[in-house]
Amino acid sequence: MVALPHHVDLERCTNCEEYFVGGSWRQMELDDAAEDSTIDSMMVISESVVVDVGTAFEKLDDRNFTISLEVTTDTQGYVSVNTASTTVRLKNVVCKRCSRQLGNYYESTLQIRSGSKDLDENIRDEIVRKVRSDVETAAKNNRSLFITRVEEVSGGVDMLLSSISMGRTLARDLADSYGGEYKESSKLVGKTDDGRDMHRLTYLVRLPEYSVGDVIRFNEVLYKLTWIGKNGGKLITLRDFRETTIRKSDLTSVRVETKEKDLKEAAVISTSGNEIQVLHPTNFSTIDLRVPENAEIGETVRIAMTDEEIFFIP
Ligand SMILES: [Zn+2]
Repeated sequence: MVALPHHVDLERCTNCEEYFVGGSWRQMELDDAAEDSTIDSMMVISESVVVDVGTAFEKLDDRNFTISLEVTTDTQGYVSVNTASTTVRLKNVVCKRCSRQLGNYYESTLQIRSGSKDLDENIRDEIVRKVRSDVETAAKNNRSLFITRVEEVSGGVDMLLSSISMGRTLARDLADSYGGEYKESSKLVGKTDDGRDMHRLTYLVRLPEYSVGDVIRFNEVLYKLTWIGKNGGKLITLRDFRETTIRKSDLTSVRVETKEKDLKEAAVISTSGNEIQVLHPTNFSTIDLRVPENAEIGETVRIAMTDEEIFFIP
């Protein structure tokens, strides 16, 4: 009532070590993969219904395994236990995804550049981390998605991606979350096997000079930029720590006063209510600074120094 072929070939990708079982590449243990592919190739007479399958795995050598099945069938009310066994042969191959990845295949390039001369290193690393994690998440449902290469180039970073739609989605997300803009350009790179034009897309994401955490000047007032989204940003005034919002159209007239990484630290001498005393970081005079209500003050605080004044950075 149950039969197995003389042998079953089980493909394993030498690069990602996944097994091809049931029509797709999967991450699984060898014995599970061998047993599942044996069950997939099992033949049962058409009048029988399989009620239960027990499996046993025996290793012959590194490439060959014996899989024995104990199959309970119900044939029009007649229940029987049948045994069958076969040899599973492990075949090393490279899956299509890995062969593309190893062959430097890519469909789109995500170019990250800054409005200032150089892209800030921290922002660059943050973006590369975010892109890696987004691609990893998306690849869980679509294993053809991957990053082919990340290249640091003068003025920014290029990320080569296996998919056009992934490039477009990432470009739009990054432009939104950093207050930047993106544009798309296409280049004909050849023909597909069936004669259609093949294009590669480039998504140039240009980030503004400012980023979250920077001290900026807008309408002659100093603010800390605390958030950027699709439609604008959030600010805190440095004079009295009031929160306010800024429209996307107004962000173009923002000037960067001090990048977050260039803020100075000052040692705290004393605190009392809304005021603290700190040491001037260069001439070591004592200065009074206003701080927000309930601010947690450590041994040092970050400050912004303009030509006229010094501010506590919340
Ligand atoms: Zn693979």
